[in-house]
Amino acid sequence: MARLRPPIAAPVLVAASTSLLVAQAVVRTADPIKRGLKESDFPRTVKVSDNAYTYEDFHAGDEKFTTTNMFVVTEEGVLVADGQGSPAATKGLVDAIAKVTSAPIKYVVVCSDHGDHTAGNASFPAGVRYLIHPTSTAAMGRNSPADAELVSDTKSLTLGSEPFQVVFLGRAHTGGDLGVYLPRQKILFLSEIFLNRVFPAMRSAYPSEWLGALSKAERMDASLYIPGHGFTETGPVSKEELRAYHTAVEAVIAEATRLHKAGVPVDQAIKEANFGEYTSWTLSKSQGPIAVRKVYEELDGKLK
Ligand SMILES: [Zn+2]
Repeated sequence: MARLRPPIAAPVLVAASTSLLVAQAVVRTADPIKRGLKESDFPRTVKVSDNAYTYEDFHAGDEKFTTTNMFVVTEEGVLVADGQGSPAATKGLVDAIAKVTSAPIKYVVVCSDHGDHTAGNASFPAGVRYLIHPTSTAAMGRNSPADAELVSDTKSLTLGSEPFQVVFLGRAHTGGDLGVYLPRQKILFLSEIFLNRVFPAMRSAYPSEWLGALSKAERMDASLYIPGHGFTETGPVSKEELRAYHTAVEAVIAEATRLHKAGVPVDQAIKEANFGEYTSWTLSKSQGPIAVRKVYEELDGKLK
């Protein structure tokens, strides 16, 4: 039968199978260009299930990578996990939600208290209910949302017919790290507990405890893990990438620990550290030295 097809069909078939191949074998990177995307593709909304979406917009700075939020639409309103880094960027998120549903935003979960996820919170509508970990409220000080509900362990709630669990898996990237789990759909938004192909950023981290939080996340019954930075993956790829991230944090801790044990002073250790394959990850240049200092701090018992 193939021989009877007009010649024009051949390139169409090739194009179709090529795009299918690209869709399945995504480039494992946080870099939009290496991923095969254009800067003009962002911000963008990615539908991950019937009613759950991610919103990806670029982080500030020259090195392009995404800050990734999740929103879940129910018949009684929307739950949003994390915002963007400026009022204009978070307005982009709010507008993107309005394109999907006319339902109001009811909850905003502050999963990471860092400015790149919270500095745009003024653009969320007045009257939304904020959920936040006590450590994050303290860290945010006067910028912490007023009348927020504190979540120090696990908080279950239902919105419309969608059950949610806001979970604290231990101190990781900020100390007040929260995740949002959708038990019905087995989706787990991990915010900055999971940086997809972005070098482990440790300025405010608890290195060894972060490994514990990642282990807990991997033990949860999830078929899709969503990162706070880096791209939204399909389920099986997201599991592999969470594992890859866990391995990266282990490797960074191991390299700094090796230098510490050898008695190398921290400034020298920063120069000598060899992070191998992770030097190709986004932000490795700026975050490598910070990670070495933080691991030294923990090994020296200075991290409380
Ligand atoms: Zn961040």
